[in-house]
Order: sequence, then structure tokens, then C-alpha cells
Amino acid sequence: MNGYFMEPQNFSVNDGDGIRTVIFFAGCPLNCKWCANPESTLDFKRVSFNKKTCIGCGKCTEICPVGVNIDLNSPGQREKCISCRSCMDICPTNSRKKLVRIYSDSEILEIIKSQEIFYRYSNGGVTFSGGEATLQRDMLRILVNSLYDKAVDMALETSGYFDFDEVKDILTKLDLIFVDIKHMDEKKHELYTGKGNKKILENIKKMNELDVPIVVRIPVIDSVNSDEDNIKKTAVFVKENIKNPKIELLPYHNFAEEKYECLGLAKMSDNFKRPSNEFLSHLKMIIKNEGAESVSYI
Ligand code: SF4
Ligand code: SF4
Repeated sequence: MNGYFMEPQNFSVNDGDGIRTVIFFAGCPLNCKWCANPESTLDFKRVSFNKKTCIGCGKCTEICPVGVNIDLNSPGQREKCISCRSCMDICPTNSRKKLVRIYSDSEILEIIKSQEIFYRYSNGGVTFSGGEATLQRDMLRILVNSLYDKAVDMALETSGYFDFDEVKDILTKLDLIFVDIKHMDEKKHELYTGKGNKKILENIKKMNELDVPIVVRIPVIDSVNSDEDNIKKTAVFVKENIKNPKIELLPYHNFAEEKYECLGLAKMSDNFKRPSNEFLSHLKMIIKNEGAESVSYI
């Protein structure tokens, strides 16, 4: 079976225990305004152009069948591109590329297997991330079933936005689920992600019945969701609905800025800011006071 993926990442230490291989599934039902993997929510064929690595050799323009300029992100150029790949194959600096590509299940399993020595000796494993991995649930099921038989530790990073009954059999085989609560306010959740939070909160309650450890993650962004009231409401929800209530605060970063530029997308809002370390410590105290554990995988 084939699926759409971003580049897998080896040696990750932030996505679960030990050293992990992270498999990024492309595609997401949400559209968060701060998304770190924007290629996942676009047309998968979109070609990225990195101005910083381009040496201006002009080979891409010589081969382009529709006459796109070197700067694919200059006005009027993207509209012409038919994603034929020719420039990607010829570019000597890899400045033109696709950020999403097709892998078969066996190719992904091969990538995972090649890292076995690292995750076996560090009590690590594999983390399925995205995008939203459950969106390609048949592919996820194949991978999870295969790794389950080999006793590989598996974690899932999910938005929580899925049809529970359609993925329940997959979730039960996992060792850890990271699920985001981006905002407790339904309207603000919809404003910032394109979808309300009801389905996510309901799914968290259902996941709690599966006996798989859950860590609720909050991407903490000043001007969006870092206010005390929202963090307190999240902690109360987690305490009331999860057997071992754990929350990880993930302070906002803008590492994806270059990706936005390469894909010809508008910059993320300058209003999004990372909270200070002092304020994050304060928020952790709020979480603790509400009876949930504040954890960190960073
Ligand atoms: S992918 Fe094809 S059409 Fe698009 S810029 Fe490259 S050569 Fe031109
Ligand atoms: S082929 Fe690559 S390096 Fe050469 S001009 Fe085009 S994008 Fe730049």
C-alpha cells in the first residue's frame, strides 16, 4: 500500500521515550495558523523553492516546460507550475523539491528497521506524527500491526480529530498517545484551527477507556491560548477525564518560517509569540494545583 508522508526523522528525543524514529503522515483535518508542517495541509504536489541555497545556475528555467522563473515564489510563477518534477531532478543544490512524497508501507517499515539498534538500546521506538496520522488510517493500521508483532514501542502524536470507532483498534495497540488541546473555547479553537474542539474532547474521554497512557499537549502561544484561564480549564478537563492526568506545555516556536517562505505562503502572524520561561513555570504551577502532572519530553 502507498501513502503520503513528509521526510521521516531519525534520532528524535522529543517525541516519546528514548531515541525515536518519527514518521510524519501528510494531510490534516485541521488548519492551525501556526502549523509547523504547512506542506501537510496543501496540495501535496506543491514544489518548494529555497532562495538561500539557490546558486542561480538557471538549469531549472532551461528545462521548465511552462517557463517558470528561477524564483518560483515571485509573482505569477506558482500559478504556471504544473509540478512536473523536471527542475527537482536537475537542480544541483536541491533548492527545488517536494516536501511530501509517496512511500509504500514496506519502505516505511524498512526505514524504521534501519534504526532498530538505536531504539532498542535506548528504550525508544517509533512515533507516528503529521499532519494527522489517523487520516490515512489504513496505512497507519498496517504499520502499527506490523510493529506491534515485533514489540516495537509506538507513540502517536494526534490532533484528536478523528472518528474514534474507525481507529479504535489501532489506538489500543499503542504505548503512548500525545493529543493536543489547542484551546478550551470552542469558538477560539475554530478560529485558530478551522475546526471546533468538541470532537477532540469527546475522543480524549473515549481514549481514556483504552488503557493507553495519554499526554495532553498544549502548543502554548501568547495572544492565542496562554492565558491562565485557558490553561486552568484545560488542566481541570484533563484531571476530570484522564486516569493519569498529564500535560506537556510546548512553547510556540517559528522554526517553520523558512518552510512558509519556500512554499510561497504568507508569513505566520507576528502576533504569535513564545511565552517567557517564567510564565511557563507559572502555568506549570497552575496545572499542578489543579491536580494534573506537568511533564516534558524535551
Ligand atoms: S515542477 Fe516543472 S513546471 Fe514546476 S517549476 Fe519545476 S520544471 Fe517548471
Ligand atoms: S537549478 Fe536549482 S540552483 Fe540552479 S537556479 Fe534553479 S533552483 Fe537555483
